Amino acid sequence: MNPEKRVALVTGSGRGIGRAIALAMAEMGHTVAVNYRSSSVAAERLVEEILSFGGRARAFQADVSSAPEVERLFEEAESDLGPVGILINNAGITRDGLLMRMKDPDWEDVIRTNLLSNFLTTRRAAKDMVRSRWGRIVNISSVVALIGNPGQANYAAAKAGVIGLTKSAARELGSRGITVNAIAPGFIETDMTAVLDEKIRSQMIIQIPAGRAGRPEEVAALVRFLVSEEASYITGQVIAVDGGWTMA
Ligand code: NAD
Repeated sequence: MNPEKRVALVTGSGRGIGRAIALAMAEMGHTVAVNYRSSSVAAERLVEEILSFGGRARAFQADVSSAPEVERLFEEAESDLGPVGILINNAGITRDGLLMRMKDPDWEDVIRTNLLSNFLTTRRAAKDMVRSRWGRIVNISSVVALIGNPGQANYAAAKAGVIGLTKSAARELGSRGITVNAIAPGFIETDMTAVLDEKIRSQMIIQIPAGRAGRPEEVAALVRFLVSEEASYITGQVIAVDGGWTMA
């Protein structure tokens, strides 16, 4: 087997940004573990699409906010496909609401799904990566981690936590040939943002130098580079894919 072909686990990859990342990994020749929480139809359709162009993929159900399910996910994926060399922490949810009215479950669900999940998968994946002295971990954070957002205290806190986790993991794992980076997407057209009303959308677009929302493929393009051999000296970074929205 070509040593540069790995097993890439992409969490929450049935749709949206995760789906575009899974396709990009398959196009690079990696075997893709497509993780989904509930929609097996979308995940199986993605697997079929990958198989149709000669790629390799399999779908695995698991809720990545649960420690036992993450353990089962890795056991199943590794016994079917082999050790995970590339981990893309993409699964995420929003439960928006103003801070003073935010309910405890909305805080907890968002922290568990967007942050705890990244810790659970990273801790598990790092074992095999350390053994093979090679690994790529890419965490999908958000620009709101950098600039905050009214109505998203839970989501911004979780995504900022992802950045702290990314940098600490990068420091711990850097000497073992493992890179850990975060991507901070801006406003990307997916089901997650399709619920935003027209007024909020146009208010955001006005602030974006590129003058438009981004596409999932534009996030996947950066993942493609970060998991490549060429990116071996880039670790602990947070890179925005936001059309210039949050430039310093
Ligand atoms: P999306 O809602 O289309 O996709 C999220 C995916 O995660 C879904 O398939 C969902 O089923 C899955 N998921 C949610 N909870 C899960 C769990 N517990 N276990 C397994 N899978 C789970 O959203 P998207 O826009 O494609 O978002 C992908 C990532 O990018 C998320 O982490 C999101 O926070 C982040 N992001 C998105 C934007 C944007 O503008 N769309 C901006 C910044 C960051």
